[in-house]
Parts: sequence; structure tokens; C-alpha cells
Amino acid sequence: MRQQQGLVINSHGRFFNVESNGKVYQSTAKGKKTEFVVGDTVAIDIINDNQASITELVPRNNLIYRSDHYRSKIIASNLSQLLIVIAVKPNFNIGFLDSCLICAESSAIKPVIIINKMDLPESTEFAQKLTDLYANTLGYEIIKLSALNNCEQLGNYLKNQRTLLIGQSGVGKSTITNQICPEANAKTGEIAKYETSGRHTTTHATLYHIDGNSDLIDCPGLQEFGLFHLDIEKVAWYFPEIRDHLGNCKFHNCLHLNEPGCQIKTMLNENLIDSNRYAFYCRLINNLKTKKHY
Ligand code: GDP
Repeated sequence: MRQQQGLVINSHGRFFNVESNGKVYQSTAKGKKTEFVVGDTVAIDIINDNQASITELVPRNNLIYRSDHYRSKIIASNLSQLLIVIAVKPNFNIGFLDSCLICAESSAIKPVIIINKMDLPESTEFAQKLTDLYANTLGYEIIKLSALNNCEQLGNYLKNQRTLLIGQSGVGKSTITNQICPEANAKTGEIAKYETSGRHTTTHATLYHIDGNSDLIDCPGLQEFGLFHLDIEKVAWYFPEIRDHLGNCKFHNCLHLNEPGCQIKTMLNENLIDSNRYAFYCRLINNLKTKKHY
């Protein structure tokens, strides 16, 4: 039997499509409990022209999780970038943006925020406020665009990266995907039709090649990342505005909630830390305390 390396490009239950040397093999992992996900590099035994058997997982650089009944479930691996699409409408939810940033920070994946629908008049003030906080204060990268007009700006960001695109429903993800990767868009349409028919509700992650060295992972059903696996003690590190001041609190294990001598609370009272971000931090800690072992 021939052995070679491959890339998991999507999965359906116990079956994994593994791309290797330009061919896609429907593969199973006989006798193994390992859960393989999109983005995994694996060793496969070639059975025939269409089938292979996964024998080994090459260690992952990073992982992201989706939320599944108060648990975090692995959805993709080996990403280099997270493009978080937001828009002034419909229903912008700042908590969604914050949780995407925590997902990226905790998985050591570079986040880039795309503010879409800049052609709408109300987007100007919306984008300015977010830029002041997320780019100017916290240091995140922000791209402003109108996907209806064009997405050319994204070209440089996608090059030589493995990118996952995420956003709430209606922000323009499909419009963007359609422009940068038509193959992905066609497939997403098929899945969306299937899902609205009520027969299937799973999140399908699929990897598409934009070019030889740039991939896009599309997760049409993914509306929320899983953060339940996080260690409470590490959460502060994922907030740049808190991370920069750790070590200045009285107690080394300060959780920045109600402890005396907390530098973060002092900065909050002096308006040096954004109160909504701090409220999100407290919510996250409390959720981890109460639901982690659900
Ligand atoms: P998705 O649910 O995130 O995939 O969002 P879609 O790509 O389906 O877009 C939702 C709606 O927003 C559609 O009616 C799009 O035509 C519209 N839309 C997408 N991008 C833009 C944009 O840049 N400006 C405006 N005004 N509308 C947009």
C-alpha cells in the first residue's frame, strides 16, 4: 500500500475528504478515535484511486472551536488568519466581535476586522467609533470596504494565508466569498439550500484554494466560536488592554473582578479601559466559572 501526506479539506461524519498530490480521496480512520478536522495534515494509505485510510495526524499548529451545548468542539486547524466581517446592519453585536477576537488571541491566529457596507451613510460614524477602539487603542487591523463594489483590497491579505471568514448572518460573507473564491460560493449555496430544507443543521467547514498557496475555509453554519475550553487564569492575556498591565495588581493571581489592589479596576475607573470590553471580560469569566463543567 502506498503512503503519502494529505490535507483534510472537509468531513462528513466518519468520512474525510483528503487532498493529496492533486487528488481527493474519501478517507476513513480505521480503528482510530481521533477527530480529524479541516486543515489537518495527515498521513494516508492509498487504497485505490478514490479511497484512502488515515493513519496519522501531523501535530497541529493551532485549533479553533465552535460552541456546542456549552462545550467547545474542534472545527478547523492550522489557520494563519481570521477575517471577521462586521457591518452596521443588520443587528451589529459587539459581543460577537469580541468573542471572535478572543478566539483568535487564544489560538494564536491573526485577526483582521473587515467593516463591510461602507457605502451606507450610517457606516461612517459606526466605522470611526470601532476604529478608535479596536485599531487605535487595541492595535487590531481593520479593513473598510463595500463588497458590493469590490473586494480588491483583500487580495494582499489573503495571499499566502490560510484564512477563515466569519461573521453574523447578513453582513456580506457570501458576497465577499463570491468575489474571492467562486468555487466556495457555489458549494455554499448548495449547502444553504439543503440546510433550509430542515434536513441538516451541522456546521460544514470546507477548505478551498484561492491559489497554490492561499486557502479559504468557509464555515457557512458557524455563528459562534466555542470558548468553553479556555483556562480562566489565561483569559486576561487575550485582552490586549489587560495583558499590557498584568503584574501591576497586588495579587499575582488577580482575576480583575473584585480583588483589592487591582490595577485593571483602577484603570477602568479612570476610563483608561473601555467599560464594554471589561463587561465582556467579566461575562466570559463568569460563563467559564458556571458552565465550564456543564
Ligand atoms: P451573509 O449572510 O453574511 O453571507 O451576507 P450576504 O453576502 O448574503 O449579504 C447580505 C445582504 O447584504 C445582501 O442583500 C447583500 O447584497 C448585502 N450586501 C453585501 N455587501 C454589501 C455592501 O458592501 N453594501 C451594501 N449596501 N449591501 C451589501
